[in-house]
Amino acid sequence: MKANTNCKKELVKVKREDYTAVIGAGPYGLSVAAHLKAQGLQTLVFGKTMELWKKMPPGLCLKSIWSASSISDPSGKYSIDQYIATTNTPRQEPIPLSLFLNYALWFQRQNVPDVEPVYIRSLAADGKRFHLDLEDGRAVKASNVVVAAGISSFAYIPSFARDLPETVASHTSAHTDLSRFKDQSIIVIGKGQSALEYAALLHEGGADVELITRGLVRWHSKILYERTGPARHIFYPPGDVGPPGINWLVAFPSFYNRLPEGIKDPVHKRAVLPGGAKWLRSRIEGQIRITENTQVVKATEQGERVCLELSDGTKREVDYLFLGTGFQPDVHKLTFIDPALCQQLQVKNGYPILNVGFESSVSHLYFAGLLAGNTFGPTCRFVSGTKGVARNIAHHLARA
Ligand SMILES: Cc1cc2nc3c(=O)[nH]c(=O)nc-3n(C[C@H](O)[C@H](O)[C@H](O)COP(=O)(O)OP(=O)(O)OC[C@H]3O[C@@H](n4cnc5c(N)ncnc54)[C@H](O)[C@@H]3O)c2cc1C
Repeated sequence: MKANTNCKKELVKVKREDYTAVIGAGPYGLSVAAHLKAQGLQTLVFGKTMELWKKMPPGLCLKSIWSASSISDPSGKYSIDQYIATTNTPRQEPIPLSLFLNYALWFQRQNVPDVEPVYIRSLAADGKRFHLDLEDGRAVKASNVVVAAGISSFAYIPSFARDLPETVASHTSAHTDLSRFKDQSIIVIGKGQSALEYAALLHEGGADVELITRGLVRWHSKILYERTGPARHIFYPPGDVGPPGINWLVAFPSFYNRLPEGIKDPVHKRAVLPGGAKWLRSRIEGQIRITENTQVVKATEQGERVCLELSDGTKREVDYLFLGTGFQPDVHKLTFIDPALCQQLQVKNGYPILNVGFESSVSHLYFAGLLAGNTFGPTCRFVSGTKGVARNIAHHLARA
């Protein structure tokens, strides 16, 4: 048995040097791998398939509309439409998490059946090749690497909450099963879709919930989408990121990349202004207490509870604090990237600077998903962005 394992390690070392390694098996990793394989590139994919999505609370629905919820494959045969037609699954909107997850797993089985469900412990480079140490002890060499390791490492914890233990406070993304909060008093901080949807789910699960937000809660109404019939496609590209007008500027990552630097930033910010989907509104308004225009000034652990001092001078003491405070990308937080390699990356605001093919300042090292967002725009945060991103990376790599 031991001899076999050693033999396998040796094979890996000798034969896999010309591979392209994809780190991540979420929507981006799977899509990039599908496109690379179609280009005839030898591809290895590492990571836990759809790990982030498998950890979301079961009752959650996607904010994305139907046309923005397909993972891109090179043939176009594996869209969410194809999935429901092939499997006789009823179309539902808002899209339940279970439907999207089943679709993504079907996509993976059809396009990338050979995902290696193991983490990369270390990614280093010797100037010619990349060296990947896997958590199961194996080592792999690769000519190209695409980092599609997602958003989990970037969960943002505001400074007032950094010293609180997880027994009283944590980021929304740390929670799958919300049932343990039944009958508990909860404060949710934030006004984006995640904060609002977790607040609704907690309330519906029997918790006593208050939502505290720095500004006003806004709802994304999509009036033009509902009222313009077939003409809606003029106002809304399929990708569905941002309000009308802005949404076309960000719809195609390569187009966004060519926008003047001075307008990229405001366009990006406007496209992803925090807010809730219209269908969520009735589950929040009149259902839970909302305290707007208020910040947490101080938070302290108080026995098994947490005590908050607010900017309006009031205080709260509750059983648990949920931080729906989003994700703040910073490539240095991907601790599996060897520090010497990370130092070679040119970085702006935490994002690696990328060329037109999504390649970083380190040759043959590519980034997909959220970390490509500074160069290619906010669509890279969403499933709909897989189309522009994966195809571009695969074409660039095939020509390299
Ligand atoms: C609550 C919530 C709701 C959302 N709703 C929507 C929505 O409605 N529509 C939408 O488009 N987007 C939504 N998003 C955004 C969503 O995160 C992205 O669309 C999508 O998951 C990004 O895909 P990804 O492949 O870049 O990353 P992820 O889905 O985060 O996948 C990351 C992958 O990397 C792997 N990985 C991480 N570290 C390593 C390592 N060291 N070695 C190997 N593998 C590693 C993981 O195992 C995983 O396979 C939502 C996000 C959240 C948190």
